[in-house]
Amino acid sequence: MKDFTYTALPSRVVFGPGKLATVADEVGAIGATRALVLCTPQQRAQAERVGALLGDRLAGIHDGAEMHVPIESARTARAVARELGADCAVAVGGGSTIGLGKAIALDSALPIIAIPTTYAGSEMTPVYGITENGIKTTGKDVRVVPKSVIYDPELTCSLPVGMSLVSGMNAIAHAAEGLYARDGNPVMSLMAEEGIRALAAGMPLLRDSPDDIGARSQCLYGAWLCGTVLGHVGMALHHKLCHTLGGSFNLPHAETHTIVLPHALAYNSSAAPDAMASIARAIGAADGPRGLHELAQRLDLPLALRDLGVAEPDLDRACGIALSNPYWNPRPIEAGPLRALLQRAWEGSEPRP
Ligand code: NAD
Repeated sequence: MKDFTYTALPSRVVFGPGKLATVADEVGAIGATRALVLCTPQQRAQAERVGALLGDRLAGIHDGAEMHVPIESARTARAVARELGADCAVAVGGGSTIGLGKAIALDSALPIIAIPTTYAGSEMTPVYGITENGIKTTGKDVRVVPKSVIYDPELTCSLPVGMSLVSGMNAIAHAAEGLYARDGNPVMSLMAEEGIRALAAGMPLLRDSPDDIGARSQCLYGAWLCGTVLGHVGMALHHKLCHTLGGSFNLPHAETHTIVLPHALAYNSSAAPDAMASIARAIGAADGPRGLHELAQRLDLPLALRDLGVAEPDLDRACGIALSNPYWNPRPIEAGPLRALLQRAWEGSEPRP
């Protein structure tokens, strides 16, 4: 066993169908009395339900959350929180809405209660991202970690099946890279393998019965574990590639993760055999990267970057950007093999080590 250092992040999790009903208690438990509910315009109805449950603890609802947290939306939300005299934020939604809560917390230390409705995992991490002049800057600050997280699978039933499944793959990506993280530890590896197992088992059930609360619970449980891994250990090639591709070509977040993951893992497979064995065990396949590719095929998920509108000549530019910023990865990042990885992800062909 290799040596490790493990610093646990403070986190309180309330999990279960119907647990949304505890939101006023959760606000009270952190000593807050005036909650600002955050959401996107699309999730206004869910936010109003939360508002009704908060009763006299509701300061107001702000439906200005947007993808990638533009600085203007963060400034507006901070002003709304100040004007309403809010003493906590309740973020109901996916990574974009929780990201808006984090942007307020960063500026004012306003505590956040997160109610995640996707599997992206932001609620378990100290990572924030804010976009200014088209450039997304990310950073880490323990002040943005939500004080309490309510995981209510009932709220995820309205997430369309296709979005649910790519969001699940996005979560699996956190755990898969966590398994070979430089700063990994045995606790995170246990969570990662169990998180992948829960999602790989839950996603086919969810695809067949999107309103099955058992399947939704299984996937949300997996997402919690995978998000915890993302919050505690560093990511590598896969996350860097998705960041580069997403930022440079304006690609959808979870779909890009879904397509790139088997190829990035295949690239790292010879350098991280224990991680690959763990992934293979978790999904019940002989080979981790190929097993994930086949799972995506069975679930009818996007498999090729060209189907997201990436042009073949853009792959050289993506490769150049990914090489220009050195970062740790279990296998050194080399131009030829990286370009070949991108080609296979563009074509949607089988992952190859
Ligand atoms: P999202 O938050 O952008 O949501 C996508 C759309 O789905 C939105 O319109 C949203 O309102 C809607 N939606 C979400 N849940 C729904 C539900 N249950 N029912 C109906 N509609 C619903 O998507 P996401 O994938 O959760 O988040 C992606 C963003 O989060 C990216 O910007 C990514 O960089 C960020 N992220 C950050 C971290 C972190 O640690 N900071 C982690 C993961 C993702």
